[in-house]
Amino acid sequence: MNTTPLSIGRLKMAVANKVFSSTHCPICQSTNLKIFKSNNYFFPSYSKAPEFYIYQLLLCDDCTVIFMDIFPDEKKLANYYNTEYRASQFRIKLKEKNIEPPIMIPWSGISFMRFMNFYQTVEHHVSSLKILQNDNIIDYGGYQGMWGYAMNQTYGCYPIIYDFNEAGINFSKNAFGFARSMVAKDIYTDIFSCKAKLASLIHAFEHLLYPVKFLTHLKENILEKNGYLYIEVPNAYAFAHADPTHAFTYNTYSLERVLNVCGFEVLHIREDGFPKLEDGHDNDRMNLICLARATSEQPKTIKQLTQKPLNLQKEILWNYQKLTWKIMLNRYKNIFVSIVRNIAVTFLLILSPLLGYEKIYNFKASVKKLFK
Ligand SMILES: [Zn+2]
Repeated sequence: MNTTPLSIGRLKMAVANKVFSSTHCPICQSTNLKIFKSNNYFFPSYSKAPEFYIYQLLLCDDCTVIFMDIFPDEKKLANYYNTEYRASQFRIKLKEKNIEPPIMIPWSGISFMRFMNFYQTVEHHVSSLKILQNDNIIDYGGYQGMWGYAMNQTYGCYPIIYDFNEAGINFSKNAFGFARSMVAKDIYTDIFSCKAKLASLIHAFEHLLYPVKFLTHLKENILEKNGYLYIEVPNAYAFAHADPTHAFTYNTYSLERVLNVCGFEVLHIREDGFPKLEDGHDNDRMNLICLARATSEQPKTIKQLTQKPLNLQKEILWNYQKLTWKIMLNRYKNIFVSIVRNIAVTFLLILSPLLGYEKIYNFKASVKKLFK
């Protein structure tokens, strides 16, 4: 763990020695930067795909965002997104090429389920946003349109899916009829035929290398006046910093700060653990859910929800520690439950021919009812 703050002189020295390239925070321009490092087994700050990209993370002491010291080359990144990034366990390797199923299992289902977070935000927290059938909605990084499909089923609207992946866009057009969907050329300059009431970025904002540039473009050229922006991103407190495509990682404070800097007012922000990923690292704080609105006035802040962390690095590492114990406890609990279940099954195997299967079935049904 390295918690030493870096002065400008030391930063310049570090740059000269190619320790890292950034001398200022890309969000708030502060030079008050530290190296962020976690050696936690479940939540490391080491790239999970070192063959693609290795980075070092910096933490801005002013806006508390965590970001990569040097961003990966954009061409290399685009190539990674279209190949290994979406490689699935169901891939079939043929002589000439590899083939994949048309939907991503289980990620398509998870994308679909993430809609519930948006629905609850609008239902319970921001009643001023009403989605109507003819509203223009753009889902940035929407890939195959699974989240958009849930929007369509709920509100009857036809969102524009915007993604770099051409196959994903074609799928959204053919399977869901999202005819206006568009393959991304340049996310920082691409525009649409109509201004949008709502733009959404579901686990996409953290991938942007230039978030300020994007939000400025979104406010000036994409959204209607006072248009809405819905963002869901991993929470720095409860998510491993191991994805080499996550250029920035936010907490509630830094997410609100970057939105404020770009003229957005946060209407609602929270930490949430839905849906579970079943990867063994699930926890109740792993995602940030945020609904904001473009404003021409000075953006207000939600102070009671987004207080600036006093020592983010220390707080994050401590939270990792707590989560690690919870994960291990859960794993041992699962082993215990599995042993008990298998002992019970062994008894049922023996008793089944003696008592007849009907009695066993009825017994199983009443046990299931008991645990419901
Ligand atoms: Zn900053």
